[in-house]
Order: sequence, then structure tokens, then C-alpha cells
Amino acid sequence: MSSIRPTGITANRQTSELSIQWSDSHSSVYPFSLLRYACPCAECRGGHDKMGSDPDPVVFLRPAEDTPATRLKNLEAVGAYAITIEWEDGHHYGIYNWNYLRALCPCLECRQKYAGS
Ligand SMILES: [Zn+2]
Ligand SMILES: [Zn+2]
Repeated sequence: MSSIRPTGITANRQTSELSIQWSDSHSSVYPFSLLRYACPCAECRGGHDKMGSDPDPVVFLRPAEDTPATRLKNLEAVGAYAITIEWEDGHHYGIYNWNYLRALCPCLECRQKYAGS
């Protein structure tokens, strides 16, 4: 269990990006559509057995879209370990924990680190 956690989370609706500052001073910028494609809920991931695993690598290859499904409506903390995101189409089942969000960081450094692991 990693102890890396966010020190700041900012949703920017102008650029449709979520920024996270991490306690190890890394920072991540997630397009909203990436977060939606990688929604970790059982429905989106196709079953409870797939929940909790790392993001499916195909989510990084999908082009960004601007639809109600990829527009962030609301973001809430879940205890001290995760956030949930409510989307404009009403979907709000995904619980994005810190490990998952860090594994979802789209920067080159993280992609090289998590690819192949
Ligand atoms: Zn979902
Ligand atoms: Zn990164």
C-alpha cells in the first residue's frame, strides 16, 4: 500500500482537466474524458472481479470527447482515500482511490513506469 496521496485537487472546467498535486511532488493532469473512460465502477469495468485493478491501457488511446458523459459535474471526497466524480449524464458510481489515480496519470514518465508492470 503506497502512502502517496494528493495534496491538492483542482478541476478546471475551462480546459476540461483535473489536476492533482501529489505528496511526492509529482503532478498529474487528467483530461475529464480519460477519467470517464477509466471509470472504476463495476458497470464500466464489466464486473466486480475487475474492480480495483489498474486502469485498462486502452483508455489512454481513446480520443478525448466532449459529451455529457465526459463533462464533470461534481467531485467529492470519499473519506481520506478516494474521490467520486459525478458526470453530467448522471453517472456517479466510480470511486477513484489514490493508487488508481496515480496509475492513471497520463504523463510520459508514469506511462513508461506502469506499462509492462
Ligand atoms: Zn462507471
Ligand atoms: Zn505522472
